[in-house]
Amino acid sequence: MARLTPPAIVILGVGALATARRIQALYAGSQVHALQGRVEADVSYIELSSHLRELYSRGTPIVALCAAGIVIRCVAPLLSNKGVEPPVLAIAEDGSAVVPLLGGLAGVNVMAREIAAAMTVSPAITTSGELRFGTCVLNPPDGYALADITQGKRFVSDLLAGESTRIEGEAPWLDEAQLPRSESARLAIRVTPRAWDGRDDELVIHPRSVVVAVTVPGIGAGAGAGAGAGAGADSNTDANIDADSNSDAQPDSGARIAALVRETLNAHGLATLSLAALLASSEHTANPAFADAAASLNVPLRFAEPRPEDGEPPSNLLHAALRVPYQTLHDDADAGVALALAALAIDPDTIGRPRGRLTVIGLGPGSADLMVPAARTALNEATDILGYETYVKMAGPLRADQRVHGTDNREEMQRARHAFELASTGRSVVMVSSGDPGVFAMAAAVLEALEEGGSTNADWRAVQLAIVPGVSAAMATAAQAGAPLGHDFCMLSLSDNLKPWTIIEKRLRHAAEADLVMAFYNPISRARPWQLDKALDIVREYRAAATKVVLGRDIGRPGSTLRTITLGELRSSDVDMRTMVIVGSSTTRGFANGIDGGEWVYTPRWYE
Ligand code: SAH
Repeated sequence: MARLTPPAIVILGVGALATARRIQALYAGSQVHALQGRVEADVSYIELSSHLRELYSRGTPIVALCAAGIVIRCVAPLLSNKGVEPPVLAIAEDGSAVVPLLGGLAGVNVMAREIAAAMTVSPAITTSGELRFGTCVLNPPDGYALADITQGKRFVSDLLAGESTRIEGEAPWLDEAQLPRSESARLAIRVTPRAWDGRDDELVIHPRSVVVAVTVPGIGAGAGAGAGAGAGADSNTDANIDADSNSDAQPDSGARIAALVRETLNAHGLATLSLAALLASSEHTANPAFADAAASLNVPLRFAEPRPEDGEPPSNLLHAALRVPYQTLHDDADAGVALALAALAIDPDTIGRPRGRLTVIGLGPGSADLMVPAARTALNEATDILGYETYVKMAGPLRADQRVHGTDNREEMQRARHAFELASTGRSVVMVSSGDPGVFAMAAAVLEALEEGGSTNADWRAVQLAIVPGVSAAMATAAQAGAPLGHDFCMLSLSDNLKPWTIIEKRLRHAAEADLVMAFYNPISRARPWQLDKALDIVREYRAAATKVVLGRDIGRPGSTLRTITLGELRSSDVDMRTMVIVGSSTTRGFANGIDGGEWVYTPRWYE
């Protein structure tokens, strides 16, 4: 199951920072968002109301350390629109008041209690049911789902009006609630996998206690062949699989699986909300039909590898995947579907194994606000994080349950193979690079490892691989200086660790002659002390001494520096391995920006 998104802790001034950090400590992966220019925190924003609206519409829980009224006004325009309603809380700067505002069904009161406990104050809970009963009856814990929210609201107002209720089925989380209980009550809270029959004296809560295994004949392992690399398990390995290689002709395979599952559940009077997972055979790991079906049913997809002693398909999948006692409700080999029912909700993390994922991300140059949201999401969802130690640290804060595999920066291929090994066991692996992962970084090594190892290893090919772009050092440096990359440019690594120096010289010569702006990565290091001077000598053969040069060091990181000089002035001692060197073209120009003798540097869009 997806974990709850960590909250954005939003502050306006420095006075709230200490409280914000205390709240941050409660929610791993959370970040403190501060008004740019006022406070340095993890993420900076320019304008409060648009920032809060953006967070809200993305469904990010918001903990705002400012007046409740401000928060309400900011998100008000979005409230009439019934979509996601993440928790929104207003907290007094000094932590003395904790006010849950929105997101009652998303657990705002739970958060309010947690934060208030950390601040040793009482939360300002205003939800009547919650106050009266000490819990939100309509917000059951993970693994349980409310059948119908409208019915739920009516039910709670009946309770508030003085009625009592019976509880039928297992609802351990209600044991501590102060519910008015009576065996003879008209109202009943029924915890059951059976579908709600519409009776309005019942509040039906479904435990996610049903697992459905599907081995539909006619759905090829490689169905939806357009899935590209990573898909395409061998389609001749299972007797159940239609050998029809024209599998693109089944665009609705996912819909067919979902329909079959719904029909089977209906036939047994079970609610779709009772499903804990859709289970398929491991050979379908990369088959988009099953992924589509699981998405349509809104349940996690799990895979199992049955052994001979597990019996016949499809019920052998249940046997191989389930680690809790269950009852087989349905087993139809011809239709390719089997249903299991457990006594209690089943944690999907214990069922078979998920499709492994490997996401290669770029952190951007350093500061959190220059990391793209997709990279942050991948980090939040990761079970394992790999990368050079410095970058893994930059990717934090991480949760205690996330495993970190730090390695030396030099073993790129080994690290890439390690990532596939982990991901092919069903883990969600994130590989971190700085800047953009495709620019002198890990993405190419990961693809090289896959091309080499994937041909003999179907498990590697089944890994769901994605590459998330990032803001590269050249872009981040250029933006601070102005727009030196405003016209044609090239990116060159001056490191001769992985390519011969003669190639570097040749490229420099051609780029210089072509009047391209040049961004130098890895310009110098202790092991490569003379190369930069040599490179500059070559460039100086083609470019005037007055050519603009931008030096960005540790851009986006603490202590960053930005300098603009000329090619004539540039010395290799001005540069180290944490520096980005941008050498302008013949048209790159600059003018004073009015700050401490600084200047804006840009390369015009036109050419003479
Ligand atoms: N994938 C990275 C580049 C890795 S190569 C990216 O896209 O940015 C490492 C080189 O990038 C360093 O030697 C330095 O030249 C440059 N670099 C990386 N981060 C930087 C930063 N924050 N400031 C300036 N240069 C940086």
